[in-house]
Amino acid sequence: MSKGHGSHPGSIDYDKYPFIVFWEVTRACKLACRHCRASAIEEPSENELDLEEGKELIDEISSCEQSPVLVFTGGDPLMRNDIFELIDYSVEKGLRTAFTPAPTSEVDKETIKRLKSAGVSRLALSLDGSCRETHDHIRGDGSYESIMKAAEISKEIGLPVQINTMVTKNTYKELEDIVELVEELDAVMWSLFFLVHVGRGQALESVTSEEAEEILNFLYEESGKRDFQVKTTEACHYRRVVIQNSDMISEEKSIDDIGRSIGVNDGNGVVFVSRDGDIYPSGFLPLKEGNVREDSLIEVYRNSEVFKDLRDKSGLKGECGICEFREICGGSRARAYATNGDYLAEDPLCSYNPEENTG
Ligand code: SF4
Repeated sequence: MSKGHGSHPGSIDYDKYPFIVFWEVTRACKLACRHCRASAIEEPSENELDLEEGKELIDEISSCEQSPVLVFTGGDPLMRNDIFELIDYSVEKGLRTAFTPAPTSEVDKETIKRLKSAGVSRLALSLDGSCRETHDHIRGDGSYESIMKAAEISKEIGLPVQINTMVTKNTYKELEDIVELVEELDAVMWSLFFLVHVGRGQALESVTSEEAEEILNFLYEESGKRDFQVKTTEACHYRRVVIQNSDMISEEKSIDDIGRSIGVNDGNGVVFVSRDGDIYPSGFLPLKEGNVREDSLIEVYRNSEVFKDLRDKSGLKGECGICEFREICGGSRARAYATNGDYLAEDPLCSYNPEENTG
């Protein structure tokens, strides 16, 4: 199972280039979601990268040999007046461009049409409950309705939709119903984010590792029945669960299920640029390793000690350090850091016991 760290079969060398770049274009957002990583506020914060700086960043990202995906995130990216100019520029530069607006009534027909014509490849909508009450409890009044409308319009216009769902103690009992909604909405991907205690998310309760295991097995079963792809964030042990179950399915199907995400992890294929240009291994791992105003994003990604450590799975500790799945999984480095203050520690959300299984 061992591959060189940072490698990915047949495509991007993660030691050299990221697979996906998240750029938090603003902190401004009209919502105040209970789990918000960015602790978003209504107004933009001072010092956000301006249009020219944003274009320079896009220039650098597009200079990568293998063009990464650029995700405009926030806050609410729609709160920036120049967001469409940035999107146009990103698409023009040949980047696969994705967009994660806050689920508000601003995501209307005009906006979605504009996104589609700009060449945005996917619209990501956040759905954290199976009904208005539970979703709006987390995201705010009216948000559920906005998502349903946005998904319907996207379908009509032909812009693929991804549904993002936060997994917490409160939402996990609803996943069986949410999956039905994801199908009804014709989504191409269901992406589940497993809570890491950063930002406002510190006030929420995570599922236990046993519950996480149950959820990941449920996701695996669902992925075999549904047309959309299933992806997890900060729960990369989903890859272990897929592999462990793969004797029940063809190898091809198993690889397809974890797809391009094999090995991708905080700092390993992933890089996050904050609103004021700070460079982090992910939006959930608050270790600033540079700033795009002074540093080259790609140089920091390649050469920062933290990024290099994150790609070298031989430095992992605890259960992750001895686990035979560490090259394809490696555990959530953000959760290890949030829990232990050590980004190389084991991921407490994984209940797998490598010693028992390797003898
Ligand atoms: S022990 Fe760590 S590396 Fe192994 S499956 Fe669990 S999270 Fe992944």
